[in-house]
Amino acid sequence: MTLIHLEITEYGGRGFFANSDIPENTTILNCSTPLTFNIFRKYKKDACAYCFSCDFHKSCKFKLDPKHQVKLIERLNTELGKSTLQPIKFSIPSSLVSQTQAFGGLFFCSEICKDEWIVKEDPTGLISFILNSIDQAVPTSKKTPVPENVSSVLTSEINSEFIQKQWNDALGVAEHITISLASQQLNLSTTSIPSSTSSSPAYSLTPVTPTTPNSPISLTSVISDVISDTDSEPKTKKSYSKKSRSKNKNRKVPAITSEEQDIVRFVAVLVVKMFLKSFGAAVLNKDEAPLMSAFCNETSDDGFQYFGDLQSNEELHLKTLPDMLEIQIKVFMFLNAVLPLQLLPFLTQKIFRDILGREAANAFGIWQLPITPDSELLGSSLYPYCSFFNHACSHNVRKVRSGRRIIFQTNRLVKAGEQLYINYGMYNDMPYKERHEQLKNQWYFDCQCDRCLSERAQI
Ligand SMILES: [Zn+2]
Ligand SMILES: [Zn+2]
Repeated sequence: MTLIHLEITEYGGRGFFANSDIPENTTILNCSTPLTFNIFRKYKKDACAYCFSCDFHKSCKFKLDPKHQVKLIERLNTELGKSTLQPIKFSIPSSLVSQTQAFGGLFFCSEICKDEWIVKEDPTGLISFILNSIDQAVPTSKKTPVPENVSSVLTSEINSEFIQKQWNDALGVAEHITISLASQQLNLSTTSIPSSTSSSPAYSLTPVTPTTPNSPISLTSVISDVISDTDSEPKTKKSYSKKSRSKNKNRKVPAITSEEQDIVRFVAVLVVKMFLKSFGAAVLNKDEAPLMSAFCNETSDDGFQYFGDLQSNEELHLKTLPDMLEIQIKVFMFLNAVLPLQLLPFLTQKIFRDILGREAANAFGIWQLPITPDSELLGSSLYPYCSFFNHACSHNVRKVRSGRRIIFQTNRLVKAGEQLYINYGMYNDMPYKERHEQLKNQWYFDCQCDRCLSERAQI
């Protein structure tokens, strides 16, 4: 029997509650791997891409073998080729096989970590392959003018209509076409999560079905047409099909900074997982268990099925950081230009904004261990199921990272029915006002925990 369960809280969100009395120092939740993550580019050689360990005196020098990865991609193509749903093939540039640069920008602290990555995290090789495509596109990306009307946004202007308008203006006519094509291709339906306590919808990916056989629709070129030719007349859906395929080679890649590259990588890993889970389930039989797990990784506790249940904080996030809107749109355009066409149905504007809206105030920082005031923030990670822990300024659960794993343990006796709280940062020692303000700025909520209520009453 599990020790905890999810339940709607009095504030409307969800939280974990104790099923019975739980003694101090009990492990109540243990998640082995994030749904997506990124080691910031500036620390890519300092922190291991698998176990996240970091020793600034010793760089991570183990890299994936491009030849091995190319073989995995070939296997992926073979398996996907069996699919009757859609012809599909990832092309491998011949230059890739001979390149000596780090594959996918992933650096590991040991051979063991490198092998674990291949076996457990990326058995198809597609994640590394896509990350590599991104890294390769960065230095060659051309300067593309950023849509003028997206710059210099004021905090007071930000609301959901404003955000949508900026997206519409930036993507122009492609917006409507992208959505309509994507919704035909990708059917995001709602299902109940496997928890009796919830009625909230979760993401459920059903197989992509092409509208007409053997004619993959190029969303990318729809976007790039607009980027490269903003004065053109709005086009009908029909006029795209032929032209778009011929223009694929000319996709313009907006120039991005290394910080923006971090966002790109974070989103890309999740987009690849959506693709693999969708196609794996569609293509393979249940008796192909080893391959099934390579594609779907059903046994992984990366929390994929809970992603759709997370709260999106897009509006609050952009109100705090208005400049991020322009960056997000640019990152979307970059990904649209760089990702293989097969992945684009999983990168609709909606999915992209859902990912970043949920990343805000749900992602866990990857900190250098042991945690001290001097620890560096090495990257970010998303563990959707663990995000249901709410915050309290006198928390009863501590969060411990061990490699990629996050472990939650009680720090005192918790009574049956009590809610389990973690501390979202280092706020415990701060006075009420400062603590309250920081929580509001960084996590977008007014803390109403018992400690805050009693301290506020004393002011
Ligand atoms: Zn390692
Ligand atoms: Zn509080």
